[in-house]
Amino acid sequence: MAIKQTGDIAAQRLSPEQLACEFSDIAPLLDASAAAAAASRCHYCYDAPCVNACPTRIDIPGFIRKIGNGNLKGAAVDILSANPMGGMCARVCPTEILCEGACVRNHQDAKPVAIGALQRHATDWAMARGEVLFKRAAETGRHVAVVGAGPAGLACAHRLALAGHRVTLFDAREKAGGLNEYGIAAYKTVDDFAQREVAWLCSVGGIEIEYGVALGRDVTLDTLRKNHDAVFLAIGLTGVRALAMEGEDLSGVMNAVDFIEQVRDASDLGTVPVGRRVVVIGGGNTAVDAAVQSRKLGATAVTMAYRRGVEAMSATWAEREFAQTNGVTLVTHARPVRLIGEGGVVTGVEFERTADEGNQAQERFVVEADMVLKAIGQTLVAVGIERELLTLDGSRIAVDANGQTSLAGVWAGGDCAATGGVDLTVQAVQDGKLAAAAIDAQFARMAIKAA
Ligand SMILES: Cc1cc2nc3c(=O)[nH]c(=O)nc-3n(C[C@H](O)[C@H](O)[C@H](O)COP(=O)(O)OP(=O)(O)OC[C@H]3O[C@@H](n4cnc5c(N)ncnc54)[C@H](O)[C@@H]3O)c2cc1C
Ligand code: SF4
Repeated sequence: MAIKQTGDIAAQRLSPEQLACEFSDIAPLLDASAAAAAASRCHYCYDAPCVNACPTRIDIPGFIRKIGNGNLKGAAVDILSANPMGGMCARVCPTEILCEGACVRNHQDAKPVAIGALQRHATDWAMARGEVLFKRAAETGRHVAVVGAGPAGLACAHRLALAGHRVTLFDAREKAGGLNEYGIAAYKTVDDFAQREVAWLCSVGGIEIEYGVALGRDVTLDTLRKNHDAVFLAIGLTGVRALAMEGEDLSGVMNAVDFIEQVRDASDLGTVPVGRRVVVIGGGNTAVDAAVQSRKLGATAVTMAYRRGVEAMSATWAEREFAQTNGVTLVTHARPVRLIGEGGVVTGVEFERTADEGNQAQERFVVEADMVLKAIGQTLVAVGIERELLTLDGSRIAVDANGQTSLAGVWAGGDCAATGGVDLTVQAVQDGKLAAAAIDAQFARMAIKAA
């Protein structure tokens, strides 16, 4: 959906030079000496807490030791064998609540080992040199359909392909990568990294991608099951929650994910329209990214409003701090009650103050806005999922610990599945990995039975 330039929503608020600066890499690559210094801070802990805090269980002290010894290829193998999207995760993981949050150096000098930066140092080195790190096993003759080419689908495809199975990835869109391509903030993944990573993953061989094929529109689950030995569903959460209140259809009101996608898609950031005064409703990753990117495009006043206190926000403390240092005003305990407009165009949001205790309504106030971005959560679009056979758990696909659904031969993982994990890239990768291992084990059992 294109952004309408109504009210005070306009493109080119900043010069090309300012935009290039605003959207440059927020965590540039470490050079060799900085990497050596960062690696030297690691204690190579026994039963390292950083490893336990990583959903993909990368051997962190192991790869840091290799970086310290100058063995970057070995470090990259350690990382990518546990997490094939180790390059993207090094850029986007909220390390402050994962590996770096658990690092023992926090207790010693209040500064963790720079695990994310070191991970990027090794994986970028290997990818830039086109190092061959993995060899595919001999063809098994098995063929798996993976629906959705986001982190979960790609990780599953890579694992299955390495085991010698053939994989066809089906994606509704024209590019692979899922939210790595269309959702993650532009300054976290610059220089088309998402597409370079997809190319690297597929270079292992045995993976074919069919673009523009949507489950439920162009292909049915039934057909995929008949034509393949297994199916992995990794369709993410492509629906968006509505505010369901007066004024939601006013011009200038849009979904934050659509706004973010236009920023990610733009070959010239100067063409992306943004309000002068922007209000973002929500308290998660998406809200932070929409708010910060609005500021970086030149909005003068950006308010991020959340109905509870900061401790209940799903955005981490580091993300909140990042938003605030980028000039975003955080308003907590503020529940939107209606969107106000004039002549069909939004002019503000009316909020009521809430108290944590009992969420009691208190006074009301208005924040003026030319643009309102809704970021109150994504939902599963269940088209193409045969509900009568595929059990849902709440609003996601029900799975067991290995990603097996209620339907024989069908696995699911990533955001679309009720795995109990958090909605993060690294968790989606782990789900894809686990499902691939379970599918591979199933094929092995079938081979033994047939023998
Ligand atoms: C705005 C935003 C910012 C985020 N920032 C971060 C971050 O900084 N760090 C972090 O760790 N996590 C972040 N996340 C979360 C992270 O992006 C997701 O958890 C992760 O991408 C989930 O991976 P997935 O493979 O399950 O789904 P997705 O990445 O959503 O991929 C699903 C794929 O399935 C395809 N698909 C959907 N329906 C169909 C269909 N019917 N037929 C065929 N294909 C279909 C889609 O086109 C897409 O390619 C962010 C999320 C959002 C929304
Ligand atoms: S917890 Fe910190 S110091 Fe210990 S192994 Fe992990 S990165 Fe190194």
